[in-house]
Amino acid sequence: MSDDPSESDPGDDGSGTLGYQQARWTDSDDRYEPLLSEKDTTEVAVGGDDSPLPDDLTRDSLELPALSEPELARHYTRLSQMNYGVESGPFPLGSCTMKYNPKFTEDVAALPDGAVHPDRPDDSVQGTLAVMAGLQDYLGRIGGMDAVTLQPPAGAAGEYAGILIAKAYHEANGEERTEVVVPDSAHGTNFASAALAGYDVVELPSAEDGRVDLDALEAAVGEDTAALMLTNPNTLGLFERDIEEIAEVVHDAGGLLYYDGANLNALLGRARPGDMGFDIMHYNVHKTFATPHGGGGPGAGPVGVKSDLAPYLPSPHVRERAGGSGYERYEPEHSVGKVHGFEGNWLVLIKAYAYIARLGDPGLADASAKAVLNANYLATQVDYEVPFGPFHHEFVASAGEQDAADVAKRMLDYGVHPPTTKWPEIVGEALMTEPTEVESKRTLDQLAAAFDAVAGEDDATLDAAPHETSARRIDQVAAARNPRLSWQALDDGS
Ligand SMILES: *Cc1c(COP(=O)(O)O)cnc(C)c1O
Repeated sequence: MSDDPSESDPGDDGSGTLGYQQARWTDSDDRYEPLLSEKDTTEVAVGGDDSPLPDDLTRDSLELPALSEPELARHYTRLSQMNYGVESGPFPLGSCTMKYNPKFTEDVAALPDGAVHPDRPDDSVQGTLAVMAGLQDYLGRIGGMDAVTLQPPAGAAGEYAGILIAKAYHEANGEERTEVVVPDSAHGTNFASAALAGYDVVELPSAEDGRVDLDALEAAVGEDTAALMLTNPNTLGLFERDIEEIAEVVHDAGGLLYYDGANLNALLGRARPGDMGFDIMHYNVHKTFATPHGGGGPGAGPVGVKSDLAPYLPSPHVRERAGGSGYERYEPEHSVGKVHGFEGNWLVLIKAYAYIARLGDPGLADASAKAVLNANYLATQVDYEVPFGPFHHEFVASAGEQDAADVAKRMLDYGVHPPTTKWPEIVGEALMTEPTEVESKRTLDQLAAAFDAVAGEDDATLDAAPHETSARRIDQVAAARNPRLSWQALDDGS
């Protein structure tokens, strides 16, 4: 390998990794592929004198892109070539379940009857309501829950809705509980959802083995506890073997057990949160069931509850009419109200419905089996220490002396997406890896080879990575703290 990291060739080290160089489309000024509107435009007359809007809010003409179909197709192809996605290669971003999304779900979502106006009367949208009720039923059966709302638009929004339901339930019972308990290995949204709903968050330290510490739990839970929020398997990929005792401790104190469904891919068709004692759960349908995600959505985060909590579900809710004469939307008796417009991100939910219907019970069980097998196989193949186990659908390796963020940047040079880094914090320099069920042994071996190659590299190479991507090392902190969301920000160099 060359001393100059920019000249290193990841494909040439004999390790069996992919050779990789991402496309970099620029114009003669070395600016990235321009916007359509920067390429060629034409003035188009719009509106007329009969607009009811005030003059200062109307325009006579608009400058629109004037491009042929090939120019348009090439533009988007170029952008995709400067990007990396689940259709480029493996995307083992732990806890995110970045599985390949089969194309048939897109066909189903694109059916002309899919996108009906949400204000249409129930009698004119019976088919749509039947699919909604069908998805509520599927999800209820998969999670072991009695009632499901499709409204929340993401897992985090589902958490918030679920905690609002818990709050309304306790208040209806005349109880003022002020605390929600969250393990230290939990996703940041758990802490945020509980706090947003007005609770004090009690952080629960994990035991030596990475699981819930029963003694610590007993000490943390009491008459102020509204709920314990738990991810199972947790973010280390470990199943909470004491889940029945955990449920007993929480229920004995009068609290509710909330299931963060982000890792449901590990249990699909095999075990159900409802049977473990969970009272409320959200489903990250964009993780567990096919829906493209990343880049901010849209996703969907339906929430399931046991029957005692069903009267508190968000409104409107869909149900079969009494007597079986079709479906209707209604407001549950003690509804916490709306948590999103209408019935949620419906075109996302249709894909989940199609995916579940196509796989069926055997297919779902097969998905979780392969997801767990893939994670366990890959864990034995990587050159980094993996402190905990045995795993379900993901494992957390430690980059050790290397900086996990640098490892991640360098892995891009080998044509694979890196794992989630630096979380959970229980593992130093964490590389949280979830291959999902869709990857073949061949792809897992390529991933392992990329891990191994990076594990043997020096700091100079890692510090300067990535070398083979369209955009090189970016200042992530500045990007998060000072987002410039227009393309022009690149042009003026700021
Ligand atoms: C992704 C994730 C969430 C949040 O879900 P979103 O759908 O991204 O809002 C919550 N908990 C865990 C463990 C997650 O991985």
